[in-house]
Amino acid sequence: EQSKAVPARSPVLAPALSDAWNFIDGEWVGTGRLFDNTNPIDGSLVSRVHEAGRVEVDAAVKAAQAALKGPWGRMTVEQRCKILHDVADEMMRRHADFVKAELLDTGMPAYFAQHVDVPRGAANFRIFADLFRNVPTESFVTDTHDGGKAMNYGLRSPRGVIAVVCPWNLPLLLMTWKVGPALACGNTVIVKPSEETPSTATLLAEVMRDVGVPKGVYNVVHGFGPESAGAFLTEHPGVNGVTFTGETGTGEAIMRAAAKGVRPVSFELGGKNPGIVFADADLDKAVAGITRSAFQNTGQVCLGTERIYVQRPIFDAFVARLKASAEALVLGPPETPGVTLGPLISQEHRNKVLSYYAKAREEGATVVTGGGIPVMEGDLVNGSWIEPTIWTGLPDSSALVREEVFGPCCHVSPFDTEEEVVERANATAYGLAATVWTGDISTGHRMAAALDVGICWINSWFLRDLRTAFGGSKQSGIGREGGVHSLEFYTELKNVCVAL
Ligand code: NAD
Repeated sequence: EQSKAVPARSPVLAPALSDAWNFIDGEWVGTGRLFDNTNPIDGSLVSRVHEAGRVEVDAAVKAAQAALKGPWGRMTVEQRCKILHDVADEMMRRHADFVKAELLDTGMPAYFAQHVDVPRGAANFRIFADLFRNVPTESFVTDTHDGGKAMNYGLRSPRGVIAVVCPWNLPLLLMTWKVGPALACGNTVIVKPSEETPSTATLLAEVMRDVGVPKGVYNVVHGFGPESAGAFLTEHPGVNGVTFTGETGTGEAIMRAAAKGVRPVSFELGGKNPGIVFADADLDKAVAGITRSAFQNTGQVCLGTERIYVQRPIFDAFVARLKASAEALVLGPPETPGVTLGPLISQEHRNKVLSYYAKAREEGATVVTGGGIPVMEGDLVNGSWIEPTIWTGLPDSSALVREEVFGPCCHVSPFDTEEEVVERANATAYGLAATVWTGDISTGHRMAAALDVGICWINSWFLRDLRTAFGGSKQSGIGREGGVHSLEFYTELKNVCVAL
């Protein structure tokens, strides 16, 4: 039942409702098992997606294995880096296509896709290509017991076939963040985009083909998690490493799959990130920062803050200002001028977020603003819109303060002392990120050292330098990616010892 064809036109964008195909060994592969990709703005059909089964996943793994030994494996580092720059250039040349695909899949405001998602997606290829070209390896001279010497040096080789399993919240950005370094290090990849957001990974296949990335180097398989492409891929013995961004529970399932064959994983998982505002903070900047960290991308950012702790003297003023700021957000379709907030990714996800909105009320929270579904007009009534919401008054033990909601919402709670807030902020199974707002830089440094997180922002949020380490502690992840840290996962480091 497997069919192979090369569609005459882009499978993603023209015509608007055409199918999204798998991309295996340089060819478009349809399966006839189709699922719908819907637009969260109005529930309309974006595309139908060909779900890959075991047969297609196996074909992708074999193609990726073969490509390691083909022209890709024989390329010089210079040639490989040049082709990754070509990928970035072509992505920017097709900027409008990528923006359109991302907006149809996610409904995020257009400016975010235009200025963050797509340009940073392209930058992920440039930065990691340049990094790999320039990074040295270690070398040690060793004294030997017979009075001689030995020289040790490191050699890096690609890990092999990398499975890249992606979430839906920032699809292009998070996918290229892994594909860029994986390819720069000389690996081949099989991408399993989220079933909710299949379009940009598919479009990237066109770019790879058009700039001459050899066949089998970049493959895309579509589908779901359990009993579908995600599980088939991560279980496949031919995969040499799995890099995954998504929920902690899914990470556990993937880790079990990767345990067979002792295959390494790199995980960026969930969070319940604290935002901490001291009384000496610049209130304007803190309110603006927390507004972004709580509501940007409709709260669907892994680094977002759902627990806010504000020092008591400024608590009431802060809550009033955050309320005003949340109420000034403008919900609407991506390209409407002034819109700052899109819908949630799906009706299913909205049901989950709404269940937390209900739980907050049951647990006795004070609803400062929001708490429900906004009134939308026309076709938008069929979208997965939700009100940005702020609560106060819950104890730290409540579900809302402990569990990741992944929606545009936060709970704000007062604190008195630095010691107290450190203890409360760390009292979670997660450890991804924190944002601290203070006018005293020493307080900032002390907090950064005391918080159990992988990323700590002081008087900022989501300010990223791609050369720095990125990842979570505790149940928020395993390993670090970013800059040279990506090499740890995407290469095998061999030590060579030469007796002199
Ligand atoms: P998810 O875990 O539901 O799905 C992520 C991907 O895994 C999808 O492609 C899905 O099809 C696949 N999958 C699901 N079950 C699988 C299985 N058993 N085997 C193999 N693959 C499987 O996550 P999501 O809902 O798409 O994304 C939201 C979550 O991602 C949130 O928890 C968020 O915090 C987290 N996230 C973390 C980071 C980070 O850097 N730490 C970044 C973005 C999102």
